[in-house]
Amino acid sequence: MLESLGYHLFGTHKHGATKRCMWLRRALRGGELCYKGKFYGIASHRCIQMTPSIYCNHECLHCWRPFLEDIRLEDVAWDPPSELIEGVLSEHHRLLSGYGGSDKTDPERLEDAAMPKHVAISLIGEPTLYPYLVELIDEFNNLGFTTFLVTNGSNPDVLKKVRPTQCYISINAPEKDLYEQVCQPKDDDWDNLLKSLEVMANMHGRRTIRMTMIKGVNMVDPERYAELISLADPDFIEVKSYMHLGYSRMRLGRENMASHPEIREFADEILGFLDGYCIEDEAEISRVVLIAREDSSYNRILEV
Ligand code: SF4
Repeated sequence: MLESLGYHLFGTHKHGATKRCMWLRRALRGGELCYKGKFYGIASHRCIQMTPSIYCNHECLHCWRPFLEDIRLEDVAWDPPSELIEGVLSEHHRLLSGYGGSDKTDPERLEDAAMPKHVAISLIGEPTLYPYLVELIDEFNNLGFTTFLVTNGSNPDVLKKVRPTQCYISINAPEKDLYEQVCQPKDDDWDNLLKSLEVMANMHGRRTIRMTMIKGVNMVDPERYAELISLADPDFIEVKSYMHLGYSRMRLGRENMASHPEIREFADEILGFLDGYCIEDEAEISRVVLIAREDSSYNRILEV
């Protein structure tokens, strides 16, 4: 099913996946970069989005992927990190191969794209379910990639050990009842999320909170969101609208997308309950606002 949606599975046991994103296509045609380019200097055509685990322990309303049938994670045979890296790089090159013959392609960008510099471990599934995530990220780092890891925060023990360039934890509700409605965790993960936020406060590397805002569902109680954010002491907070795409269209309506001004207004409300943060940037086309800590020790723009 995932293949028919454009996901490319790789490795012996096909639990890793990558997908060509819209921004890669635009960038290769000489167009603009995604908001990660604007916010952090990540060039879309040099970025691979992938997951080491197509499986997830949540069923978020806003998720673009179809929910896979229940599998017992204990029964999954996991490929080693070296095989996943080889698999994802080979798929990346295969995805690029169609662009060489097009006169719409920017040749310089295509040449750069053949040497990717960034891995976003954030496609679908929950990456912390992959038992060798620590080693996978270390291997990518050793190969000279910058690594972004996005997690739903259900595995605080894994977060204690990983060393990505930038770690994201998603906060999609300000309190437990709404969390269970929005994220639909298979286990009781609220306490794990709270622990993960506390773990993040002591992580090395750039710390980011991602909030997917669903109009009419979770754009409430900015004060409690700010309390949760404060547990993690993040460098960056991305407040982003839900986008009505993929399988989420079966769970939510177009009216659940917030407009950019609504996102900006909600970000301002959260900011009112945080000390030492400011609105740093925004990308209207992606309906996302970046809040940053004023005394962060990190340059927002990465040197890649
Ligand atoms: S945690 Fe991520 S992959 Fe899992 S259901 Fe939620 S949005 Fe989808």
